[in-house]
Amino acid sequence: MQAIDRHTDHARSDVRIDSALAAAEYEQRAVSSHHAAMLVAIHSVLEEARFSPEVFVGDHASRFNRDHVEFAERAAIADLAVRLAMAENTVRAHELQVVTMLGRTPIAWERFRLGDISPANARTVAELAASLPEGDTAAYVAFDAAIAEHATRLAPARFRAFARRKREQIVADTAAERHESLRSERRVRFEPDLDGMAWISAYLPADVATAAIARLDAEALSLSVAPGESRTLQQLRADVFGDWITGVGSSAPVGVRVGVLIPMLTLLGLSEQPASFEGYGPIDAESARKLAGNATSIYRLLTDPVTGAILDIDKPTKYIPAGLRRMRQAVDQTCTFPGCGKRAINCDLDHTIDRQFGGRTTFTNLSHLCRNHHRDKHQTLWQITQDADGRITWTSPTGHVAVPDPPPF
Ligand SMILES: [Zn+2]
Repeated sequence: MQAIDRHTDHARSDVRIDSALAAAEYEQRAVSSHHAAMLVAIHSVLEEARFSPEVFVGDHASRFNRDHVEFAERAAIADLAVRLAMAENTVRAHELQVVTMLGRTPIAWERFRLGDISPANARTVAELAASLPEGDTAAYVAFDAAIAEHATRLAPARFRAFARRKREQIVADTAAERHESLRSERRVRFEPDLDGMAWISAYLPADVATAAIARLDAEALSLSVAPGESRTLQQLRADVFGDWITGVGSSAPVGVRVGVLIPMLTLLGLSEQPASFEGYGPIDAESARKLAGNATSIYRLLTDPVTGAILDIDKPTKYIPAGLRRMRQAVDQTCTFPGCGKRAINCDLDHTIDRQFGGRTTFTNLSHLCRNHHRDKHQTLWQITQDADGRITWTSPTGHVAVPDPPPF
């Protein structure tokens, strides 16, 4: 790049600014347009997979068999996710975005494809369009016409507020039905955060959530006035929540056991190498020693300080011994498919080589697979292999070898 002497070149600075502004605008349009092109490419792969399921499922597959088509689609989504280093859900979301915009907001889609609408606004368009009442063509047309122009010039937050208002106007008469169907999606989410912390959140009907918060506030408030209490109201709320949900102080505490995978030298206090908490990930050495020391709800799994291998393995037997199951849980932490975050405790413990083909019940022939990836393994051409140390490699139907996720310890 050519050096610019700003002291002797005042006359041309306005020109340089103009050209840099023009470049920013041009590149932004290019990014938007390329983003749309990537979505189209993902859509094309999935269309091909649905049309030719044999590529992903095997020669017996037929496009007229719904199961084959579904499995081909899922194997292809996994293939894309691994190649693009994306979550499978992101691939699904991209596919849903293309299909929704093509079907419901063709005007906005065309402007997105040309680079007039940013990826952020396009996502908002798709998300809100997807939530319009199924099959209500008049609503699709009205929404598309109402938002397409604004999507090209409003910043994301502004546009979102505008588009939501339009959507509400268009579907105002179906509010009660929508609440009823969203009720069925209530759930609890667990998200590990950094430095030994994590989030628990719940998606609940507003009345339940409001009542819960009111009760939490009341309890925290009554504790806060106790003599000598130094915790803030926020801390008290968190502590009360934690006590309630783990059953501390209640008449019938629930017995839960959680594994902590701890390097031997760390346990002995000779090393500060971090340990790993089952279903969460790394925790610092000091907390791990405390957990391994006293809590009855914790079981320990010692690892070799050099190789990281589990030091003690149950003998192979016909059934899967609880100890072996726990070890595999602690090592896998999640489904072993690359990028899958499903917690091991909610997964199937699968024989990599099936027992009917001579596969043994050993640490090196077992891995956790969530229901979806378990089905992918048996129903599609995705292949799993496991080496002598029990490490797992997945190969996609199109021959892509997925590098395994790094171990949690
Ligand atoms: Zn999985």
